[in-house]
Amino acid sequence: MNQRNGWLLGFLLIPALVMGQRPEVEGMRYLDENRRPVYRENIMIPDVGEYRVLKCDFHMHTVFSDGHVWPNVRNQEAWQEGLDAYAITDHIEYTPHKEDVKVSHNRGYELLKESSEKNNLILVKGAEVTRNTPPGHFNAIYIEDASDYIESRDASEDEAAVMKSAEQNAFIFWNHPGWKPGIAGSYEWIPFVDNLYQNKALHGIEVINGFGFHMKALDWCVDKGLTVMGTSDMHNLVAHEYDLSKDYVHRTMTLVMAKERTAESIREALDAGRTVAWASKYLVGKEENVRALFTSCVKLMPVHYTEERKNGDKINYYELRNNSDLYFELDLKEGDTTRRVVLYPRSVQQITASEDTSSLIAEVTSTYVRSDRHLSVSFPLQ
Ligand SMILES: [Zn+2]
Ligand SMILES: [Zn+2]
Repeated sequence: MNQRNGWLLGFLLIPALVMGQRPEVEGMRYLDENRRPVYRENIMIPDVGEYRVLKCDFHMHTVFSDGHVWPNVRNQEAWQEGLDAYAITDHIEYTPHKEDVKVSHNRGYELLKESSEKNNLILVKGAEVTRNTPPGHFNAIYIEDASDYIESRDASEDEAAVMKSAEQNAFIFWNHPGWKPGIAGSYEWIPFVDNLYQNKALHGIEVINGFGFHMKALDWCVDKGLTVMGTSDMHNLVAHEYDLSKDYVHRTMTLVMAKERTAESIREALDAGRTVAWASKYLVGKEENVRALFTSCVKLMPVHYTEERKNGDKINYYELRNNSDLYFELDLKEGDTTRRVVLYPRSVQQITASEDTSSLIAEVTSTYVRSDRHLSVSFPLQ
């Protein structure tokens, strides 16, 4: 056997050996053909300047509140789906499994600490402070200890309940504003929220929660300098809610532009507001962040061909490259060019433009930088 074949055979044998770590039993055969292959997704997003783009989901539940799964399932899902960081944020005030599962607000985190480290995942400690609507729910992450958080939902304790985590220097974001339509004040910038904001006890808003894009929340984030968050708010299995059998399907998450792949560095980036929410094919965030992300992923290459038409017009051919696993849709606005361009993950599209076109101006319709505005980009030609 030559060296190359030996290497190849060794490579092929590794998965079999991993699965086959069980003693051979006479008269027993294992039928592994239909077993789900075990691997971690590798979501490719190029660095944005000096920052790494980390995939984070800081809102999910387990049986320690109203979720359907034991915490380790969240760790498995996060690993398989290629997340860098996650937080279990079980409700403090709502624990419907309490007859069967002892209420313990720190337990989800404690059970996952070691397994997350083994899986090279960053686990951040969190909780969902679950007040009646309005004001509704707030996620607190980077908390220290939730054991004495306030379980009563009496409105008189709303502020004290949020301040428990603020006192622990938590990063606090307002969850799914407007999630209960028809209740007065449920989708407004109410005095309670403004008071938290003025007291530096509100740092972000969930602009996308699962399948819901809370469009007004994006404008609040932009206007008030709050951090844009996207989360799954998963209660069931991710595979139960998302059609992972389809290409490009991923849970809703926050892309965090962090200096390093550490919990501290993610916190610095959250405080600085360097995030983009990623859900379905959409990227949602503050303009500077969405622009920085787009620019690092999408490149226009130099002219590779010029076609001379019979009337003497010259048409230049370009390639527009998407070097990422993100999806972009562009609407070209000016000039004699291709109009609508779909850039699938890790793909290239051909663009043509007449020789006298000086730049390509496009709206990236798969992005939102305000509730009513997409990112506008311009590629100079030549
Ligand atoms: Zn909630
Ligand atoms: Zn929740």
